[in-house]
Amino acid sequence: MSEEPAVYTVSSEPATRVAEKFDVERVRSDFPILAQHVNGHPLVYLDNGATTQKPECVIEAIAHYYRCDNSNVHRGAHALSDRATAGFEGARSKVASFINAPDAKQVLWTRGTTESINLVAASWGRSTLQPGDRILVSAMEHHSNIVPWQMIAAERGATVEAIPVDSTGTLDMQAFATMLNARVRMVAVGHVSNALGTINPVAEIVRLAHAAGALVLVDGAQAVGHWPVDVQALDCDFYVFSAHKLFGPTGLGVLFGRREILEAMPPYQGGGEMIESVSFAGTTYNQLPYKFEAGTPDIAGAIGLGAAIDYLQALDREGAARHEQALLEYAQQKAAQVPGLRLVGTASHKASVLGFILEGVHPADVGTLLDQQGVAVRTGNHCAQPIMDQYHLPGTVRASFSFYNTFEDVDRLFLALDKARQFLV
Ligand code: PLP
Repeated sequence: MSEEPAVYTVSSEPATRVAEKFDVERVRSDFPILAQHVNGHPLVYLDNGATTQKPECVIEAIAHYYRCDNSNVHRGAHALSDRATAGFEGARSKVASFINAPDAKQVLWTRGTTESINLVAASWGRSTLQPGDRILVSAMEHHSNIVPWQMIAAERGATVEAIPVDSTGTLDMQAFATMLNARVRMVAVGHVSNALGTINPVAEIVRLAHAAGALVLVDGAQAVGHWPVDVQALDCDFYVFSAHKLFGPTGLGVLFGRREILEAMPPYQGGGEMIESVSFAGTTYNQLPYKFEAGTPDIAGAIGLGAAIDYLQALDREGAARHEQALLEYAQQKAAQVPGLRLVGTASHKASVLGFILEGVHPADVGTLLDQQGVAVRTGNHCAQPIMDQYHLPGTVRASFSFYNTFEDVDRLFLALDKARQFLV
């Protein structure tokens, strides 16, 4: 597995030729939600950065669990509980092999990327940070990779500083190198920016941070759905993501962590499952991963994510990634022909996210008019207000592509945009 995504260069071939190698129509038939009309038009779903759609096998795995196996895990002395536990723990092992974690015990279930980061900030941060310590995040981070650090920094007397990002959305690695010193304890960066699409050089960030004695948390929310991620090759200390952006259900997330760091961290929440023994004289805690999993977990969610991973493992992922890059390139070519359209996020190494504004038009108005034509996009600051403020923008329109999108979807986006422009400009 690669430590960084390959750059799938498609410029030498017309985009449509590349797509022929990936059977997008067959893949689309796996996603029942896509075959519907919205506002009288066939749905064009381009909001994959917010959440991805679910293949039939994921929907069926969750329904099957509730229909046939529903029970609580780990504690029942009966067949249903055994089945639920096998499905739940089997899913953890699938996640471990999906991200090449050395051991499934290093894969913790959370409610999502947001909770995974809050867990690390609260548990590691509260037990480790000292006054004067520094936490570095990039200026393009999602709020969920800024605010938990600000909260724990305020409590511990530490600071949160932003690694600069230039006008294209590229991280300033030279500035990053000069910011590092012995007081930097944590570097928290997104693998892919949800607002700009930038793919950050995570392996290099880890190398530099480790040389300075800092840990690295990688927010992989926008990466795992696009190419195979290998946490050992990245050498990061924590890697976090949400199931719902990986074709699985909402309400479930993953926190991968380096074993010795997780073992040294205190529990995040108290309750059932996370204990070894409880008495009023003193309570002792369970081993990994259960130390961090208080209460009844999202069993159906884990089983659904396991099914999503099975689906992805059976997919031609390299073909899917090439197809997404071809869609992005095609969309960028079309965008260049639209008067008054400005792309936001033009880094050379990008995932399939097209952020833009129409000069003089509020992004929310564009989104509404696109929706009326059956085209679903995201508008606003994308929970990345600092980078929008830096660019003096209230927000952007964001079309984010997945492997089940087609070139016709891109055509429909630009046809709808043309109509929206006639109405708004
Ligand atoms: N990080 C990034 C880069 C994201 O794009 C998102 C969601 O859009 C999150 C974190 C938060 O994910 P969740 O809301 O699933 O916890």
